[in-house]
Amino acid sequence: MNKVTVIGSLNVDTTIKVKAMPKPGETLHAKEVFNAGGGKGANQAIAAARSGADTHFIGALGNDSNGQYMQELMRKDSVNISPIAIKSKERTGEAYIVVDEAGENSIMVYAGANMALTPQDVQVSEQVIKASDWVISQFESTTTATEKGFELAKQHGVKTILNPAPALENISADLLAKTDVLIPNETETEIITGIKISDEASLKQATDKLHQLGVEAIIITLGSKGAYYDVLGQSGLVDAFKVKAVDTTGAGDTFIGALSSVLKTDFSNIEEAIRYGNKASSLAVQQFGAQPSIPYKEQLN
Ligand code: ATP
Repeated sequence: MNKVTVIGSLNVDTTIKVKAMPKPGETLHAKEVFNAGGGKGANQAIAAARSGADTHFIGALGNDSNGQYMQELMRKDSVNISPIAIKSKERTGEAYIVVDEAGENSIMVYAGANMALTPQDVQVSEQVIKASDWVISQFESTTTATEKGFELAKQHGVKTILNPAPALENISADLLAKTDVLIPNETETEIITGIKISDEASLKQATDKLHQLGVEAIIITLGSKGAYYDVLGQSGLVDAFKVKAVDTTGAGDTFIGALSSVLKTDFSNIEEAIRYGNKASSLAVQQFGAQPSIPYKEQLN
């Protein structure tokens, strides 16, 4: 069982189901509204834990009922959140997700406490980072916290996974130098590399460019097409499972969490780990909500 530490965001998601996306100025009746746990960091940690990893989480919450709710959800899934940073001047992060009948979504995020996470909040978990197989982060909390986490990981010879989402045009060269595995989706890949992804040749071109930035392993998630990888001179497409998607919120997070629970740090099982990530996310897209749809290990065999 891998030990996984996620540094990142926690949000309370409000999902609003509508027939069609509202146009500017339009008022619509929603078909259903519900709350659930979310935030890329929390989703990835819960996906890793449900897939069987021994999982720790480093993040920040407000001193409010949403913060309490998020702590309960993380504990329920056996994600170790001690010590979590409480930012009394900030609200716990929130996201508002509108999903239409075609399963497309529009998302608005209020980062709140996530953007108050400091390098010191990460430093206190140095021993947790040291004991990990993988340290994972994204861009929904502060980059200074991510940089600190990756710096500690490298000091202790621990491998890192960066999910560059939401996309940033300029990722610091220093952070990329401390990244072992980069997992962007198609859009993020295009923004980072400037290469339009249209076929396997353009995927190869993009991964070559990302390797030049100093990253050892690259996995590009491609929605219903699956995921493309390029690591240690091996590359290829691992097809997605054919399913009917109703809500793709959290698909990428589920993929990353599940993958990290099984991926060996020498990458010797890369295809198998991607297939596991594809399987987990294919189950997630068939249900509504980010965290409610993340599958458990028993569903993945
Ligand atoms: P999101 O931002 O919605 O969480 P993402 O854009 O980060 O997702 P995607 O590339 O869309 O990530 O999807 C991640 C993985 O989820 C894919 O590699 C694939 O395995 C699975 N997946 C996504 N959409 C589908 C689908 N329609 N059918 C089957 N599998 C899917």
